[in-house]
Amino acid sequence: MSSGAVVCESAPATTSRPEATTLEDLALAVTPLHPGAPRFEGGLSEVAPGVHAWLQPNGLLGESNAGLVIGDGASLLVDTLWDPHLTRRMLAAIAPLTANAPIETLVNTHSDGDHWWGNQELDGIQILATKAAAAVMGAQSPAEMKRFGALARALRLAGSLPLPYPRRGDVATIAAYAGEALRPFSFDGIRLVPPTRTFSGELELDVGGRQVRLIEVGPAHTPGDLVVWVPDAEVAIAADILFIGVTPIMWAGPVEGWIAALELLLELGAKRFVPGHGPICGPGEVQRLIDYWRWLGPAARTHLGAGRSVAETARGLVLGDEIDERGFADWLGPERALVSIGTIDAHRRGAAKLRGPREVIDAFFRMALLARDIPTRQGAATVETTTPSARQTETA
Ligand SMILES: [Zn+2]
Repeated sequence: MSSGAVVCESAPATTSRPEATTLEDLALAVTPLHPGAPRFEGGLSEVAPGVHAWLQPNGLLGESNAGLVIGDGASLLVDTLWDPHLTRRMLAAIAPLTANAPIETLVNTHSDGDHWWGNQELDGIQILATKAAAAVMGAQSPAEMKRFGALARALRLAGSLPLPYPRRGDVATIAAYAGEALRPFSFDGIRLVPPTRTFSGELELDVGGRQVRLIEVGPAHTPGDLVVWVPDAEVAIAADILFIGVTPIMWAGPVEGWIAALELLLELGAKRFVPGHGPICGPGEVQRLIDYWRWLGPAARTHLGAGRSVAETARGLVLGDEIDERGFADWLGPERALVSIGTIDAHRRGAAKLRGPREVIDAFFRMALLARDIPTRQGAATVETTTPSARQTETA
C-alpha cells in the first residue's frame, strides 16, 4: 500500500472469511485474500527458536506479514495488519506463544496501512517507529480511503452500464482492478493508533533478555522504513524492504537507497529473512531483489531519458522480453513497476515528493490498464481484470 495515502474501504467482505475457533483452524484459515491458489503456506511459522512469522499468502496488496520475537517473560511484535479483523485473527493465533511472555512492545516498520492499521488491538503498549515514518502516518485518514472505495464502486456501476460510451472498457477494467484490490479488507471501525516513541538511525532493545536491533534503512519503499535484526537467531525481519515472489513497489525511493538497504541486510549475516510480503527466504532471494533494482533503475532511466513517458516506459519494460529473460516476469503484480518507474522519474527530475491521494488513485488506474495486457502474454502471473465483453466494447 502506499505511504501517502491509499485506499479504501470495501464491501463488508468479512462474511466470506471462515470463522476459526482452534489454533489449528486459524492456521488453516490463512488462505490468500485475493483470488488465486496459495503459492506458500500461510499462518504462523517458526523462523528460528523464539522468532515467529505470521504469513499471509500470496503477498499481494494488503497480504502483509508480521513478526514475533519471544524473550524471557516479554515479547516484541513487529507490525500489525491492515484491518482490526485480520489483526485479531493473528493475535488469537499467537496467544498461546505469548501467554507467558506478553507483547510489551510493538514496532511499526513503516507507514503503509497494512503494517499498522491494526494497532488499536494493542492499544496501551509502547509502539515504536522511525521519526520519518511517524511523520507520514500522522497524515493518513481512513475517511480518505473510504472515498477511494466509493469511487471504485461508482466506476464498477459505470462500467456495467449497457451503454456505449468512450473508453467504457477502460472504466470496467479500472473498476474491476480497484474493486478486487480492496474487497478483502474491512476498514470500518478503524481508530488510528500512532507510535508512542520514535527514533532515527538505530535503536537497541532488550526483549526479555534478547538483544534486538531496529535499523532505519529508509527512505526506500517508504520515507521511514526500518528492519528488525535478531542477532542470536540470525533472523532479519525486513518488512517491505523485501517482497518475495511479488513485484516490489517503490513509493519513496531512490532505487539506490533500496539497494543499500538490501546490501545491509546481506551484511548483517542473517540466515533467514521475513519479508513484508511473500514467504520466508534466504540471502539468495535478497540478492534477486538487488538484481531487479539494478535492472529496472538504469533501464527506466534510459527510456525516460529518451523522452518516453512513465506509462510508455512501464509498458515497454513490463511487456518486453527482458523482464522475462531475467526471470522477474513470474513475480506477481509486474504492473507495480509503473509506480516504481514514476518514482525513478521524479528523482531523475529532482522532483521527488510524497504522492497525495489523487496521485495514488491515478497510479492505481494506470496499473489496472497495464495489468490488463499482461495476462495475454504471461498466463497465470496476474489476475484477469476485465471481462471479454468489456474488452470487445473497448476495441470496437
Ligand atoms: Zn506492505
